Amino acid sequence: MSTPAVFLDRDGVINVNRSDYVKCWEEFTFLPGALEALRRLAQLPWPILVVTNQSAIGRGIVSPQTVAEIHERMRAAIQERGGRIDGVYVCPHHPDQGCSCRKPAPGLLYQAQAAFQIDLSRSWLLGDSASDLLAAQRVGCRPFLALTGRGQEQRPVAQACVPEFTVVPDLAAFVDRLLAEQAGTLASSSP
Ligand SMILES: [Mg+2]
Ligand SMILES: [Zn+2]
Repeated sequence: MSTPAVFLDRDGVINVNRSDYVKCWEEFTFLPGALEALRRLAQLPWPILVVTNQSAIGRGIVSPQTVAEIHERMRAAIQERGGRIDGVYVCPHHPDQGCSCRKPAPGLLYQAQAAFQIDLSRSWLLGDSASDLLAAQRVGCRPFLALTGRGQEQRPVAQACVPEFTVVPDLAAFVDRLLAEQAGTLASSSP
């Protein structure tokens, strides 16, 4: 049995995107409404997974241990507010390394798929950049663009390279839509 999943980009979706990278927990700021949105998302019986490019590791700007610590604290803060993150998948590579996991490459999604037995064709991904949407599109997962973070600036870029995606104002609007659609699916499948 495979399950759908919800994939979330991190910077610009859950927390404020910084052009100089989030280098410590003190620089990690939740976006307005993100914690409440994650609390509501947690009622869904699907894995909620963060997929994030952290090239600051490959650039030598932040250590892998620090990024892991940031994620532990992020998950604890989310849990404290009634939400959950079931897994965090990180690409630590420099863009020049040509790895298979830096979005738009789909490696992180495949890692998650193997660990959680995910049906990617029934899964959703929310990001704030064209590379997020491209990764989703490559594995057949539904792409959503948030207008938080780099979303406004990335919208025309995404329009030029991703055939079909949905635009939502932010994580809260994405969760509204997902929950409404699931409620509709459950209602229509009941006798
Ligand atoms: Mg982002
Ligand atoms: Zn990588």
